[in-house]
Amino acid sequence: MKKYIKVLGLALLGTLALNSNINANAKTVTKNSVKMTYEPIQGRVYSNKKLTKQSFSLNKYKKTRFYSNKYILIKNKKATQKFIYIHSKNYKLKGYTSAKNLRVYKAKKTSSKIINNLDIKSKSQLMSYINQCPDLLPEGQILNLSKSSYIQYKDLLAKKFNINKYSSSPAFENGHAYLYTDDEHLKTPLKDAIDNWNKAFGSNIFELGNVKDETLKVELVTRNNNDWDGMFSNNSILVNKNNFYNEKYNKQINQINGAKVDINDLLDGKNTKRKEQEDFNNASNSPLDNKYWTGVIMHEMAHAMGLGHTPYANDIVFAESSEEQEQSKLPLKYTWRTLRANNEKIATMTNKLSQRDLNRARLAKFMGVW
Ligand SMILES: [Zn+2]
Repeated sequence: MKKYIKVLGLALLGTLALNSNINANAKTVTKNSVKMTYEPIQGRVYSNKKLTKQSFSLNKYKKTRFYSNKYILIKNKKATQKFIYIHSKNYKLKGYTSAKNLRVYKAKKTSSKIINNLDIKSKSQLMSYINQCPDLLPEGQILNLSKSSYIQYKDLLAKKFNINKYSSSPAFENGHAYLYTDDEHLKTPLKDAIDNWNKAFGSNIFELGNVKDETLKVELVTRNNNDWDGMFSNNSILVNKNNFYNEKYNKQINQINGAKVDINDLLDGKNTKRKEQEDFNNASNSPLDNKYWTGVIMHEMAHAMGLGHTPYANDIVFAESSEEQEQSKLPLKYTWRTLRANNEKIATMTNKLSQRDLNRARLAKFMGVW
């Protein structure tokens, strides 16, 4: 995975609060997104990109659903703010509002009955089940297909859920991978990463191996650049030795972790709290106290299971952009250039696996990737 501080490059600069009106030298970029449905929380909607003309208040439309497929990023020297362009179904209400004023609308689950080991008869039948799933999150019938359906529709499923075989030789034997490191400093983060995956998944997929039975090697290495923190390559999980032992880098990561900063606040440039400064002063600069490296290993383990990146910050396998996957020409549902965070912390900080991580790992197993 890419270097963490680069992901949050704005975080350390954007320490001053910036209120909704944008000053004259701010730069605005418009970006497209996948179609989203939102429900309002509260706040103002502006009719122009400069946010000078108020259109209406969301407070009056709490029951209305709004739709969007684009947003703007307003950047000035201090911070970047995200404003989403929304419209009501009939376009009578429309305009730009802060991303903080909206929450993603979650449709109620359709109560269609799940049939075990369902044989899929056509591509359109499979597509109708895929379309019932939230973005990149296999669930329901998609996790209950027959063995032959998983084989027959492997390519389609791979593309719709960003799943691919990344390991060169089998990293799993009968559903188990054996990880080994001979580096003393990696032993604790590796053990934690194994425990976290197994606990969340509910079975021992990963085990600590030894030099003789390892199927996945974990090691600290240096490369030409420091633009990365972790890498999965030829059945090895590589951790960037320079960044791992860089005191300043560890301190920066721990500051963000300890301060319990919300990525949306960071992107919005708010959150200058005294507590953050205190946390920064007290932050450890030792990799051994930094849970982030456990998260990095967990991310690479997800690749070993066949999980490609997603744009969701609470997935262990998130990436800021889909560039890597595009370059390698691996299956990809769509491309992205910004991380999506709906008030969640970044998963490599919390070391928590999301439902999406777990369900995609299950699907990858059914597809025979591991
Ligand atoms: Zn990755």
